[in-house]
Amino acid sequence: MKILNPCEIAERSSEMDAEYILNSATFRKRWGLDNFLEACCARRVRKAGLWGDDIKKVGIAKASSLLADYEIHAFGYNRAGPFLASDASNRRELLAIAKKEIDNAVSVGADHILVFPGGLESDSKDLESARLQTVDAIGILLEHAQKVGMNLALEPLHPMLCGDRTCITTLRHANDICAQFAGKNIGVVIDTYHVWWDETIAREIVRSAIENHILSFHVNDWLVPTTHLLTDRGMMGDGIIDLRGIWQCVKSTGYNGPVEVEIFSERWWNEDPNRVFDIALERCREIFS
Ligand code: ZN
Repeated sequence: MKILNPCEIAERSSEMDAEYILNSATFRKRWGLDNFLEACCARRVRKAGLWGDDIKKVGIAKASSLLADYEIHAFGYNRAGPFLASDASNRRELLAIAKKEIDNAVSVGADHILVFPGGLESDSKDLESARLQTVDAIGILLEHAQKVGMNLALEPLHPMLCGDRTCITTLRHANDICAQFAGKNIGVVIDTYHVWWDETIAREIVRSAIENHILSFHVNDWLVPTTHLLTDRGMMGDGIIDLRGIWQCVKSTGYNGPVEVEIFSERWWNEDPNRVFDIALERCREIFS
């Protein structure tokens, strides 16, 4: 595949088998935290991508004890943000909430916290200001994250989500922001759904690995036609993303973290979650082994 060509860093290539983990968002309509962690444990999947809202439903203390009981390590924690606001006091308030989320991520022992600045305010058309404010806010959050020992993860989302989720829509932009905070606890999450279309992706994956950290690799698939911007992601192998090619590119940089399945899908949310879990693991073994 063309995408592999710039990524041939053979000496850094890992021969280890990939570790496959699930993000709880894949089951959000059918399972709470307890069911999800139990399902991970039953399959000896020892890490999990978690969401703050699921954790808050049971409380931090209970979530921590469930993680300990099932011997699951919290991997990604979603999320810090939104925090963009033109009004200074609103902004302070949102940043305080984001810092609290960073603390929550520390409390459950997460590896990293996803950072999403949020979209433009309803009366704004000023994307450039949103970008500047995002970098300022990340600087503030990073100071706090450094103090409490948490990694901030920038995950570029597909440009179609720029209006309401994040102004960081390319891996290049995420890498550029990381470069401004070089040497600190900040890195990127590469989600195939959001970056597969980008002609610079191979180069930027290499850059992520060299200049900062690839903190996680999220997988799913792009269906054609896509019927919903947020909730019509495909199961790996059902769409048009060159998942194996992108994975080989990521792996060739020396990334030795897990492959994390994250599928927002009305279709899969309505299936038996145990079946979805098993299909996801099976597809991972077929594609990423
Ligand atoms: Zn993701």
